[in-house]
Amino acid sequence: MVKSTSSANVVVIGGGPAGATVATLLAQQGVRVELFERERFPRFHIGESLIPETYWVLKRLKMLDKMKASHFVKKHSVQFVSASGRESTPFYFHDNKPHECSQTWQVLRSEFDQMLLQNASEQGVQVRQGARVLDVLFEGDRAVGVDVVDEECGNRRVLADVVVDASGQSSMIINRFGLRVPDPLLNKGAIWTYFEGAYRDVGQDEGATLVLQTQDRQGWFWYIPQHDNRISVGVVGDFGYLFKNRGDHETTFNEELDRCPSVKKRVTIGRRASRFYATKDYTYRASRAAGDGWVLVGDAFGFLDPLYSSGVLLALKSGELAADSIVEGLARGDTSRAQLGKWEEGYVRGMNRMRRLVCEYYDGFSFGRFVRRFPHHKGAVTDLLVGDLFKDELDSVFDSIDIMREELKQV
Ligand SMILES: Cc1cc2nc3c(=O)[nH]c(=O)nc-3n(C[C@H](O)[C@H](O)[C@H](O)COP(=O)(O)OP(=O)(O)OC[C@H]3O[C@@H](n4cnc5c(N)ncnc54)[C@H](O)[C@@H]3O)c2cc1C
Repeated sequence: MVKSTSSANVVVIGGGPAGATVATLLAQQGVRVELFERERFPRFHIGESLIPETYWVLKRLKMLDKMKASHFVKKHSVQFVSASGRESTPFYFHDNKPHECSQTWQVLRSEFDQMLLQNASEQGVQVRQGARVLDVLFEGDRAVGVDVVDEECGNRRVLADVVVDASGQSSMIINRFGLRVPDPLLNKGAIWTYFEGAYRDVGQDEGATLVLQTQDRQGWFWYIPQHDNRISVGVVGDFGYLFKNRGDHETTFNEELDRCPSVKKRVTIGRRASRFYATKDYTYRASRAAGDGWVLVGDAFGFLDPLYSSGVLLALKSGELAADSIVEGLARGDTSRAQLGKWEEGYVRGMNRMRRLVCEYYDGFSFGRFVRRFPHHKGAVTDLLVGDLFKDELDSVFDSIDIMREELKQV
């Protein structure tokens, strides 16, 4: 039973990076925002490697000084290791853009997400933790608020002009309207754990993300150095390959480690410092990002395979774009689907560029070979890897990938 009813201009469901971003940017522009997060932070979350283009949204959020003062490991590059163990030259982000935005961070999400949420609160967002949204309320097709069960205040109804769904993979509105479109080419899963005292590069390479292919090319490992001497290590593979007719997660992880000597030699000198985690919920997207009075951001809109560590960038970027369209809409008294989803088309084009790069990797694409064949594309490839995705001129890279594929067929 609802005990009380209140109102806000905007309610946000979820206090992860997408929810914190949209809420903070709205509050900065004078909008009354209430954010509901079902957990109490800090809480565990996967998604630890940032990419450089997060810089610009972090700047708008006024988070840069906090990030610079944090103990998060600095990340300058990404490096690929092939199935045969051959290491690519690292892609140093700074080579492409000599600006401080080219250095990013490897974060512990429990700490990073808490910092973002605290920052939201400091900038005027009413943040409620331990507050689970039970339902989004509709009048006809229009979202008009939410019902919440709040550990402190009990059951509440909050009416709002706009409801932002930032509930991550819980995807409240996707599930309610059956909007989920799975990606058949990227039906994958992951198993991961953490090591202490495992191998770390030094100097500029200390915080590099490594992407290492297994010998039979059925999977790849991420190797992400974090602070406190921890390394996040995970394996990704087709759902069927990783989870059907295999043992428990530990057994499968260790079998894949045997197939990837480049990771095995790195972790063997350390010790495992956590349990195993797994996710089977992979790439999907909503068939639309907005409706009358509602909008989806971050994983609540779509999730893309984490090969290039794009998830937090996409959460921040969609949060930023949605906030700007809400502010504009509230000023004009227009919270229609067309207004709230204005940003969707351009955003999806950018997301598709990252998706294409992911699919090319699974199809055997080699960055090294590509850049040797088309050296003038090196900058554009690095732009894609750093997440500078939202510009149409990058599409010429994909034309050249098609050309190279044809050439290879003829060899
Ligand atoms: C295996 C794997 C590896 C990844 N690696 C990376 C990486 O290296 N780099 C990267 O950038 N990304 C990575 N990601 C992606 C990244 O984790 C996500 O894209 C990112 O967390 C999305 O942020 P979000 O704010 O949309 O959702 P979330 O971070 O999931 O936040 C959603 C929040 O909503 C809350 N919530 C849910 N339901 C309710 C409710 N009913 N009421 C109130 N609150 C609710 C949840 O408690 C949660 O805190 C990875 C993902 C996976 C699966």
